[in-house]
This record gives sequence, structure tokens and C-alpha cells, in this order.
Amino acid sequence: MTKQLPVQKNEQLQVTIEDLTHEGAGVAKVNGYTLFVPKALPGEVVDIKVTKTNKGYGFARLLNIEKQSEDRAEPPCPIYNQCGGCQMQHLNYEAQLIVKQKQVQDVLERIGGLKSVLVHPTLGMDNPWRYRNKAQVPVGENEGGLIAGFYQERSHRIISMDQCLIQHEENDEIIRSVKSIAIKYGIRGYDEEKHRGTLRHVVARHGKQTGEIMVVLVTRGKELPNKKNIIEEICNQIPNVKSIVQNINPKRTNVIFGEETHVLWGDEYIHDYIGDIKFAISARSFYQVNPEQTKVLYDKALEYANLTGNETVIDAYCGIGTISLFLAQRAKRVYGVEIVPDAIADAKRNAELNGITNVDFAVGEAENVMPWWYAQGIRPDVIVVDPPRKGCDEKLLETILAMKPQRVVYVSCNPATLARDLKMLDEGGYETKEVQPVDMFAHSTHVEAVVKLERKHGIK
Ligand code: SAH
Repeated sequence: MTKQLPVQKNEQLQVTIEDLTHEGAGVAKVNGYTLFVPKALPGEVVDIKVTKTNKGYGFARLLNIEKQSEDRAEPPCPIYNQCGGCQMQHLNYEAQLIVKQKQVQDVLERIGGLKSVLVHPTLGMDNPWRYRNKAQVPVGENEGGLIAGFYQERSHRIISMDQCLIQHEENDEIIRSVKSIAIKYGIRGYDEEKHRGTLRHVVARHGKQTGEIMVVLVTRGKELPNKKNIIEEICNQIPNVKSIVQNINPKRTNVIFGEETHVLWGDEYIHDYIGDIKFAISARSFYQVNPEQTKVLYDKALEYANLTGNETVIDAYCGIGTISLFLAQRAKRVYGVEIVPDAIADAKRNAELNGITNVDFAVGEAENVMPWWYAQGIRPDVIVVDPPRKGCDEKLLETILAMKPQRVVYVSCNPATLARDLKMLDEGGYETKEVQPVDMFAHSTHVEAVVKLERKHGIK
């Protein structure tokens, strides 16, 4: 006989929230059984309805807050409950920053076995709204015609939206304008099920320092009816537009962009600055979405690299070379490696744009290129890594240990894999000195952190 769980599906009960998961859900215990309650906060007493029960844990919906947390905030966004893009608007910003700091601390201890590491308070934004420089809005149709907005949480149903409070205002205006222009000229929104219609996505990109704007129309086929009129109206309605681009994505896929891109009007690129460095951004280039906090993050990485101008530096997982170019201003030579060829083409172009000549970029897997560099006799003084969520490849960590740099700077977007990697570096002779969480994605649960590691004394 299967053992009866302490709660049943659809049961309503009152619980006290004890903790918060890394995904932002409240955690309650009922006779030792764990229930996850999205949108409930630690310390709150809440009425819930159980929605799902697994063997070891279940989920419940928040019905009513009996006793409210002092840190609870009224989410200012009108579509907060449907969207799912921000998970933490119901927690005030100061408390969000503390949660992120604690999360890093906990994970370093639990997974990394690093007990007394200094984790600084999270560096947050003065104004944590309207920070995103890129909007990617799906377009579809309902009974009333073309709509553009966002996918309802965990679904592919598009809900119309006119503003997103974490987007730059200008991006909201661009989306509104393009939507009304598309409606005026009878453009059909994309029907995902039938794979019909014209316009799939509107992407708006905005250079925070330059004010330059790019509009990308992602279409199912080459055809864009009334192209001339549409371009003219976009230019009229959006005075700062520098680039209008069509990207063609003929596939049945969730991926936004297709392979083919044409400039419809203006330039292929817009520009932006992070610090003094200028970047060319094309429709599909990776570019950090929160430029203000990117500067904070890179300044910290540069500080931890502690360069005097004589160092050889490796920037692994370099993307379009953002960190490499930042480091190059203070180093003798920087080697950047990245797996995506287009990103390396952008990196080289950006180096040229800024007249930076002491950088070399290579395309390939960092874990394979770095041993090759080692074999060529390259001995870096500092290695910077900024890997994707899955963290560094073990072979790469081994190469770091073999290269014996004085310092390692680890930029991480996932505390769990960070902790795993720091453990291995620690065992190999690198001490984690300090950790600085930086809030790149206010109101979401994402945590970014920069770590300074130094070679332990007496290690050969
Ligand atoms: N440092 C950059 C990008 C960091 S994102 C910035 O701050 O903008 C992580 C990057 O690692 C991505 O560009 C991704 O394409 C790249 N990447 C993923 N796996 C890789 C691998 N095995 N070797 C090299 N680069 C890789």
C-alpha cells in the first residue's frame, strides 16, 4: 500500500512560509512534507490550495495572505500575474538584493564547501526599472486581428501588452508604433499552429549611451507587403531609428531568428558604449541587456584582475569581446576565446572600432583552445572566465591549474556551477578571496557574481 501523503490535491490549508527557493517560490512544511508556494514570502502565514503532489514534495497556489511579510511589495506591473517574466516583483528591491547575496553564500557553502568566504552585499541599481535595452515581442493573431505582447506563463498563448516596466521606455514606444503600423498595412501576425501569417516577432534594440535604435521585423518568408510604406512610417514615428532590418525565419521553431537578415533601411549596426568602449550591435549579436549594470560588473572584474599594464590575460567564453576589450586597456596582451564564430567576428570588429590592437581572438571550445595556447607557450598572469550556466568544462579548469596564473577572475551567471568550479580550483591551489554579486536582472531570480581567486602561497 502506498503511504498516504500529509496533504491531498485540491486540499485547502493554512501554512507558514519558511524559506524561498532559488526560483522565488515560498517553501512550507506540512508534517515534514515540502510544499512550494509561488509568490509567497518567508515569514508569511498564507491560505493555500494544493495543486500537485509528488512523492517527496508538492505545489500549492496562494489564495490569501493572513499575515504579510514586511518585505512584501505591491507589484507595479499590471500584467505581473500572467507574464512570468519577472518572478520577484512582490518582494521589495532591497530584500531582493539580500536574497541574492544569501543565495550565493549558501550555495558556496553547501556545494563548494567554502565556509568563510567574503560575499559582499549585492550591487543593485538605484532605479531598478526600465533597464533592458532589448525587447523581443512575439506577434500573433486573435479574433480581433494582429496582436503583440508576451507568452502567457508556461504557454504559447500571446497576451497583448503595451508596456513592460523593465524595458527602456523607448522600446515600449517602438513596439507600440510597429504594431499599429503593421495593423494599418494589413500585415498578418504569425499563426504558430498553422505556420501561416507574416510577422513573427518585433525586436527593438536601443543603445543607451548613443540613443540609436534598431528595429528588426522577423518574418516567416521573404515577403513583406507594403514594405516601402512600413519603412517610411517607422522612420516618421521613431526619429532616432538608425537601422531597420528584416530577418527571415521560415522554420517551425521557438527560436526567434532565422539565418537570413537584410537591411531594409539605414545601417546594419547600431552602437553603444560600455565605459569608453564602443560596440557595434547587429540584429543577432549578443549584447548584455542591462548596460548600466554591465559596467558595474566589468569594473569589478577589472578591479579583481588587478592589472598594471604588463600582464598577459586570457578571457575565456569571451562572447563579442566585451570583457577582453575592457581588460586590454590595462594589459599587455589579451587572448579571447569563444565558440560562436559570429561573436568572434563582432569581437574583432569591436577591437578595430576602438583602435585596440593588443587582443587576439580565437574561435573554438575554450577547453580545447586553452591547452593549445598552453602548448604554444602562452603563460597568462590572469585568467578571466565568464561561462554559460553550465559552468566551466573540467578540462578548462585543469588547464587553468596547469597554466598557473597569479589570479583567476570568475564571472558567473549560476551560483551552483560556480560553487562546483570554485571547489575544484580551491583543491588545485586557488583560494577564493572575495565574491561580489551584481544584480543584472532586477525582479528576476537570476544572480550574477564576480569572484576573485588567488594562487595560494607555497604552491608549486
Ligand atoms: N563574456 C561575454 C559573454 C559571456 S556568455 C560577455 O560578457 O558578453 C558565455 C559565452 O560562452 C557565450 O558567448 C557562449 O557562446 C560561449 N560558450 C559556450 N560554450 C563555450 C565553450 N565551450 N567554449 C567557448 N565559448 C563557449
